[in-house]
Amino acid sequence: MKKILGIAAVGVASTFALAVPATAQTTDPIAVLVGQLELGKYKATIKGLTQFGDRRQGTKRNRDAADWIEAQLKSYGCPTERLQYQFTQPPTRGKPGVAAGGGAGGPPGQGGSTLFGQRGPIGVNADPMRQPDERLRKLNEEQTPEGTSLRENVYCTKVGTKHPEEMYIIGAHFDGIGWGEAANDDGSGTALVMELARILSAPGVETDRTIRFVLWNNEETGLNGAAAYVAQRLNLQGIESPKGSGKYPEPRWLGMIQHDMMMFDHGMPVPKLDAAGKPVLDAKGQPVFEPPKEQRAEADVNIEYQSESKQAEGAAKLAWAFRAANDKYATNYPAAVGFHMTNTDSTPFMDHVPSISLRENERGQQIGAGWNPHWHQPTDLFSTYSDKDFLLGLNAAQTTLAAVAKLAGAKLTK
Ligand SMILES: [Zn+2]
Repeated sequence: MKKILGIAAVGVASTFALAVPATAQTTDPIAVLVGQLELGKYKATIKGLTQFGDRRQGTKRNRDAADWIEAQLKSYGCPTERLQYQFTQPPTRGKPGVAAGGGAGGPPGQGGSTLFGQRGPIGVNADPMRQPDERLRKLNEEQTPEGTSLRENVYCTKVGTKHPEEMYIIGAHFDGIGWGEAANDDGSGTALVMELARILSAPGVETDRTIRFVLWNNEETGLNGAAAYVAQRLNLQGIESPKGSGKYPEPRWLGMIQHDMMMFDHGMPVPKLDAAGKPVLDAKGQPVFEPPKEQRAEADVNIEYQSESKQAEGAAKLAWAFRAANDKYATNYPAAVGFHMTNTDSTPFMDHVPSISLRENERGQQIGAGWNPHWHQPTDLFSTYSDKDFLLGLNAAQTTLAAVAKLAGAKLTK
């Protein structure tokens, strides 16, 4: 069997060699682009975002973060714009009508998931005194003002050379909560999108199709920044303006790819032990669970789509393309595909365009069961994470860069 395959392969190889002109490029452009992602640069971008504390929406530190992000994107050669909207009251998060989960293994989680196994505590910290660092308490002091006021998303666009009228959207949210630095949620996703904008906007990189890099505001209040984008721009898709100019302010959406919490996959919570090695009990005498301290060796990038969305079929296909890109180009961590995408900025898009999210864990089943103890907590700090954590985020960046470079037709022109 091996011999037959060997002969066949030789035959294919020589036919292929004859068909390729002598001048053809032999380097894989995707491998070259992915090779430009560096752990040090990814960490530096996350660190840059943490100078604005938890970046709570409606505050000066949130607006300062948007200015800083925009300045970086411009410096990469990626032309920026802003999308403005008014924000008043947070509507309900998530999407009503998504089937409730809950199977034989545990109670229902969000997005149609089942919460298997041991669970840790979850919640949002609203108590400044739980932040022991006085500098951060001061930095995060201003709270969102009451009433209606202006909010902004910031984005930049790389226009396609063959199909400027078609576009992939790559997103993450830059707002955060919890009185920390929102380093993981979602500095890790925001930095990923910024790094991809940097690499794909560099001189000598061309794509057939347009790519837009969007940093959303107001994710934490109910996906309001992304929802405003869909409301304002859904019906502008594919319209050339001015007519005959070859310019498309809103190219037709081909896919929406969101990045939200990219670094921490330490596994299922285990019993918390005291100094004597005895299980810690809560006020009700029940054992307390917490995730292990170290990134687990089996950590993976979780690619999710929503099986109850109108574009589920296309979204599943997109998710598997991402898994294939991870298989080929990621250097340390594999990817897994799930079908309960929920509670992130891809949700407002999912009935209009194939939409997926990339995360450190499944949002419903795992993050929802307390697999990340820093989620919305004062401990979501740059200093909390190890290089093994940052590396998971970098592997998600490799995955998206490789997948989008292929889908959008990236090539190197020098
Ligand atoms: Zn988030």
